[in-house]
Amino acid sequence: MRIVRFSDGDSPRYGALEEGSTRIVVLKGDPLFNPVEPDGRIVELDEVRLLSPVIPRSKVVGIGKNYAEHAREMGGEAPAKPVIFLKPNTSVIGPDDPIVRPSWSNEVHHEGELAVVIKSLAKNVPVDEVDRVILGYTVANDVTARDCQRTDGQWTRAKGFDSSCPLGPWITVDPALDVENLRVTTRVDGEIRQDETTAHMITPVRELIAYVSTVFTLLPGDVVITGTPAGVGPIEAGQRVEVTIEGIGTLSNPVVDA
Ligand code: MG
Repeated sequence: MRIVRFSDGDSPRYGALEEGSTRIVVLKGDPLFNPVEPDGRIVELDEVRLLSPVIPRSKVVGIGKNYAEHAREMGGEAPAKPVIFLKPNTSVIGPDDPIVRPSWSNEVHHEGELAVVIKSLAKNVPVDEVDRVILGYTVANDVTARDCQRTDGQWTRAKGFDSSCPLGPWITVDPALDVENLRVTTRVDGEIRQDETTAHMITPVRELIAYVSTVFTLLPGDVVITGTPAGVGPIEAGQRVEVTIEGIGTLSNPVVDA
């Protein structure tokens, strides 16, 4: 099943979209906090505007340098422990929302990534129990002001600015999804920039969630983005970035200047 959050002109609604279907079964409430219960309406996918499938209640947790090739292109080796940073929930945008390049950066990069959506409160979760705290998976773009990342000394401005966290197009809830071997492909105006599988993560998904839960209490609706493969690069106003993850879908956003 895919969980969508959408607008049909009214306040945001949630729906369930079956694989291969364009029919959205509208749900009574937010499936994170309510039983999945249809409200009786069906809408067509092309009749609504998809929104970010989740607005994190407290945080987006980012993981840096989790693919060895990417660590090397950033000019170093992979760290011994995963590097953790935060993106505020105000950085989140949805499918087709514009990535707004801030006026104070001259070098904004795409970073296509697998995103994990947390289902239930999680603290010190053992690796073999991680699946019970995960609602599902979506696609993220960890948009980064690379020049500021280099000069600021920490990453809050470079990775936390408004519109720096596109998420979507939906949350895939599928116990059969092999998240530790999914292809992540980023295209800019159709040109492939990143193309790697999650099998090449240094710390795999479940271990990451377990580790992050030793640092933070994760709340329902929090999101963990799991690091980007090699091939990061600049995006300019007028371009379109598409991040595709096998078995989940494609997140597409235009780029504009502030
Ligand atoms: Mg990243």
